[in-house]
Amino acid sequence: MKNKLIWFRHDLRITDNTALTAAAENPSACLYGLFIATPGQWRQHDMAAVRVNFIRRHVSALRDSLSEINIPLLYMEVDNFSEIPEVFKQLVENYGFSDVYANHEYGWNEKQRDTTVQYRLETHNCHFHRFHDQSMLAPGLMTNTGKPYSVFTPFKKSWLGKWRELRPLLQSKPTLRLLPPTIPSTVMPEIVPMPETNVWEIGEVVAIKKLNEFCRERIEDYKGQRDIPALDSTSYLSPWLAAGVISPRQCLDAALNANKGRLSGGLEGIDTWISELIWRDFYIHILDSFPKVSKNRPFKLKTENIRWRNIDDDFSAWCDGRTGIPIVDAGMRQLRQKGWMHNRLRMIVAMFLSKQLLIDWRRGERYFMQHLIDGHLASNNGGWQWAASTGTDAVPYFRIFNPVTQSQRFDPDGHFIKRYIPELVAITGKDIHLPTPSVRAALAPNYPAPIVDLKLGRERALSTFAAL
Ligand code: FAD
Repeated sequence: MKNKLIWFRHDLRITDNTALTAAAENPSACLYGLFIATPGQWRQHDMAAVRVNFIRRHVSALRDSLSEINIPLLYMEVDNFSEIPEVFKQLVENYGFSDVYANHEYGWNEKQRDTTVQYRLETHNCHFHRFHDQSMLAPGLMTNTGKPYSVFTPFKKSWLGKWRELRPLLQSKPTLRLLPPTIPSTVMPEIVPMPETNVWEIGEVVAIKKLNEFCRERIEDYKGQRDIPALDSTSYLSPWLAAGVISPRQCLDAALNANKGRLSGGLEGIDTWISELIWRDFYIHILDSFPKVSKNRPFKLKTENIRWRNIDDDFSAWCDGRTGIPIVDAGMRQLRQKGWMHNRLRMIVAMFLSKQLLIDWRRGERYFMQHLIDGHLASNNGGWQWAASTGTDAVPYFRIFNPVTQSQRFDPDGHFIKRYIPELVAITGKDIHLPTPSVRAALAPNYPAPIVDLKLGRERALSTFAAL
C-alpha cells in the first residue's frame, strides 16, 4: 500500500485545494497531511507575530478538518527552510512515502526550497508533484511578443479572455478516506491567542461566511464605497486569502454568482471587486516572472540610483503614527492596533513615506510585513513599488498623492481619523485634515506639528526622480 503526503504551506484549507484534490484521487493510498513550521525563516521574512499566530491557529483547525476525512496531519518544526530536505529524508525513510503533493509558491526562497526538496525526494524515489493554485490563473500569461505582462490593464484584458476560454472549475472537498492510517496526527504545541487576533476568527467556514455576507450585503456598493475607510465596505478577506484558508477562485465564484455569471460588464461594484482579485493575480504573476522583486530589488532597476533621505526620526514618526498628518497617522495606528490597514490608507501612507519623506520604500515594505496579518509578499511588494514609482505603475513618478486632499476626499468629516487619533477629537470642520498651529495649541496640544512641508516634500521627490 502506498503512503502519500500532501504538504500544506499557504493553502490551509481542504476545499478547492488543487494539490489536495490530486493527492486524494487514488483511494487505494493512505494519505497524510504535513505542515512544517519554520520560525527562523518566518522571522527572516519579517512575518508579523499576529500573522504567525493566525497561521498556527489555522494549522490546528486544518488538522481537525483533515481528521474528519481520515487524513492525519503530521506537524514538524525546524528553524529554517534549509533544514526541510532533511525532514523529508527522514519521513520517506521512516514511513516509505512514495509521493508528495504541494501547491507552488512563487517567492525566490520558496522556489529554491522546493527545488532542493524535489532533488532530495527524487534521490529516494519519491515523486514531488506541484500545482498552480495560489492565483486564479496560473502564472505564464504572455504578451504577443512572448514576454510576461508588466502593466496591469493589458494583463487584465488578457486575463479576462483566458478565463473565459478556460473556465476552471472549483474543486469540492475530498470525501472520507476509507483506509485506516497507521501514523497518527502529531500533537501540536499549544497556541496562545493574541489580543489583536480576536477579531480575525479561524476556519474555512468563517472565511466562506464572510465571503457570502460580503456578496449579499456590500459588494454591489463596493465601487462607490471601497475608498472610504470609515465604512465597512470591503470584504476584509485578505488575511484568509493570504493564509490560503479560502481560494481566490472561491471568491471569484461567489462574485460571479452575484453578477449573474458575468465576469465583467455586470454590476459596477462586482466588476470592480473582481478587478481587485485580478490585481492580486497580477502581482503573483509579477513575482513569478521577475524574481528580482523578491530579492529586495526594484522592478524598474534604474530607480536603484535614487538617493533616499532615510532620516531615522522621520521613519520612526511614520511608524508610530506621529507625523502630524492626521490621515497618515490614523492609517499607521490602524495597522498597529488591528494588524490590518484599509487599502486607500495603504496607498496614502506608502506614498507619503516614499515620496514626501523620500525614505526607501523597502523600509516601509518591511514594516508592513512585520505588522500585517495579511502580509502577502506579492501584493505587499507590488503595492509598495506601485506607490514608490519603482514598480509596474504605468503612470510615471509624478503621481504623488497629497495626503490632505486624499483625507478631504475620503474621510471628509474626519470620522476615521478621530477613531484612531483621540488627541484630535475636539477638532471640528475642515481643520481635522491638517490642524493649524493655533488649532493644535487650543484643541490638540498633544498632537505633533507636521514633520514635513507637503509642498516642499513633493518638489523634493519630483526633482530626485527627475534627476535619474
Ligand atoms: P477587498 O477590497 O475586499 O479586495 C478583495 C481581495 O482582493 C483582497 O482581500 C486582496 O486579496 C485582493 N486585493 C484587493 N486590492 C488589491 C491590490 N491592490 N493588490 C493586490 N491584491 C488586492 N494585500 C494583501 O493581501 N497583503 C499585503 O501584504 C498587502 N500589502 C499592500 C501594501 C500596499 C502599499 C498597498 C497599496 C496594498 C497592499 N495590499 C496588500 C493590497 C490591499 O490593500 C489589500 O489586499 C486590501 O486592503 C485587503 O482588504 P480586503 O480584503 O477588504 O480587500
